Amino acid sequence: MALPKTCSFRDKDFDCPLPPSYIISVVNNGEEYMIAVVCQDHRNQMENWLMDMQSVGKIPSGKIKFQEIKLVVTDCIRDSDDDNSLM
Ligand SMILES: [Zn+2]
Repeated sequence: MALPKTCSFRDKDFDCPLPPSYIISVVNNGEEYMIAVVCQDHRNQMENWLMDMQSVGKIPSGKIKFQEIKLVVTDCIRDSDDDNSLM
């Protein structure tokens, strides 16, 4: 699944340009619905906003879950540092 490149938080004219740190989903009857992504700064604001959305029925009710986005680390080609131990 392709994730948005920026935080989903919006406020009037403001679009958050930061890369997201969390995937937000709602767990409802064992099903998990991805709702948005959010950066570290807007996590609390986004959670409040989502609870508002749930109270008016815009998104499914259920537990709001924040899942940390793990950056893909490419550490497979790093053998030069440890070579000395073989000598
Ligand atoms: Zn943000």
